[in-house]
Amino acid sequence: MEQECLFCQIIAGKRDADIVSQDESIVVFKDLYPHAPVHLLIVPRKHIRSVNDLSERDGGVVAAMIMKAREVAKEMSVDRSGYKLLFNVERGAGQVVFHLHLHLLAGWQRRGSGGREQ
Ligand code: AMP
Ligand code: ZN
Repeated sequence: MEQECLFCQIIAGKRDADIVSQDESIVVFKDLYPHAPVHLLIVPRKHIRSVNDLSERDGGVVAAMIMKAREVAKEMSVDRSGYKLLFNVERGAGQVVFHLHLHLLAGWQRRGSGGREQ
């Protein structure tokens, strides 16, 4: 754990967050300042500074993040209506927390209001 890292502190339970899902490698919590009706952060327990700091060994972490995003999208019933997955990479792109995270944004349109495209 990086002592000064906000997300490491949340993962360690030292700071409050609205956690919606967690397992041995990933923690998912609600974004405190949401930009969509559903705005979740998919965060690996391992402290990785940004996409630019991923190593070859971290491929499994990224795959786990995307699979977890898919799982929580389904649990929140936004899988069919649709969701965005976004990495902000470095300050110029809007990254302000330097612990790797994937934004899941959704909820503009709920399940039932549209079918799956073929
Ligand atoms: P980024 O801009 O990609 O670094 O995303 C960081 C996100 O963390 C932003 O969308 C913030 O709203 C969110 N955020 C900041 N502090 C907290 C917090 N204490 N709990 C949950 N989300 C947070
Ligand atoms: Zn961290």
